Amino acid sequence: MKLRERVNPHILELDAYQPGKPIEELERELGISDSIKLASNENPNGASKQVVEAIRGAANEIHRYPDGACFALRARLAGDLGVEASQLVFGCGADEILELLAKVLLAPGDEVVFAWPSFAMYPIVARGMGALPVPVPLDAKLCHDLDAMADAISDATKLVFVCNPNNPTGTSIGAEAFGAFMQRVPEGVVVAIDEAYGPFAAREDFPDALAFVARRPGTIVMRTFSKVFGLAGLRVGFGVADTELAGYLERARHPFNVNRLAEVAALAALDDRDFVEMTLRENAAGRDFLTCELRAKGFEVWPSDANFVLVRAGVDVYDPLLAEGVIVRPMAGFGLPDCVRVSVGTARENRRFVEALCTVTGAGR
Ligand SMILES: *Cc1c(COP(=O)(O)O)cnc(C)c1O
Repeated sequence: MKLRERVNPHILELDAYQPGKPIEELERELGISDSIKLASNENPNGASKQVVEAIRGAANEIHRYPDGACFALRARLAGDLGVEASQLVFGCGADEILELLAKVLLAPGDEVVFAWPSFAMYPIVARGMGALPVPVPLDAKLCHDLDAMADAISDATKLVFVCNPNNPTGTSIGAEAFGAFMQRVPEGVVVAIDEAYGPFAAREDFPDALAFVARRPGTIVMRTFSKVFGLAGLRVGFGVADTELAGYLERARHPFNVNRLAEVAALAALDDRDFVEMTLRENAAGRDFLTCELRAKGFEVWPSDANFVLVRAGVDVYDPLLAEGVIVRPMAGFGLPDCVRVSVGTARENRRFVEALCTVTGAGR
């Protein structure tokens, strides 16, 4: 029997996640230097100096296993968020929380509802368990079509992902629409609200998803240290759910899934409010710059509540931009081949992107 015949059939159907291209890879391939990466929504300011110091301080302890329970980080976040410690589950990035939800809830034949285009990991974790992804197209403004999503929930639906603000469009959902949607989700269907970009949302009516965790069993809010806190390279994220759901996720995780340095770093990151505020200020300024400049040059730019913008270039500019030393995220895999997602960078990087886009499209001449 061939190996292929022994592999789970749903794994054969799985397409691996396509991450943003690393700078080192591009420079190796093209033999260039001084390229910039605006492809993975990383913090262009790096991480807090206090975090780097805390990691140095903890480096002498790396021969010890981490605290598998994340006691210190758990206690700190429970206090900050006003939840019980038992409601928190930590992961190797929020990505692992998605995977744990799939592992705990899904079996072949089950359905998972989510908007599309949205985070590429949703169909991947669903397929990984042999479940059926049910992507629901965004509306004409590339916002979640929550009515259509509620309509898509069937007796086979076990899990619904809501990405707010949405990656890769940057569009967000308001409190009223979110509340009405939650009303429509049948009891027993787990709703996972992915707030990876929540801190960047400027709208005043951004939903209080945590309030739904308190009110509705089977609701989980996911957050990450990768974006606003600038710790993408360390891999730490978490979910906040009711104690019962959090308990099932705890059972399914690896014992030491958050490493020692990541826990120390996350705690230090929570202590540096100035860094977070600086990040949010810089991001808002960079996002405004990109949105205004690109629109002035004639490009369509969707209003963003995140740390990236979706731009319609009119043609596929991904490879031409690479040749200019500018890495963005191609959108062809999302059915938007003439668009790219560009992370808000430093002021210098943002200007460089606008110039490169004009160069490769001939715009603004
Ligand atoms: C970045 C991102 C995450 C989580 O990232 P981790 O680095 O795994 O914490 C989750 N959801 C969305 C929509 C993201 O863009």
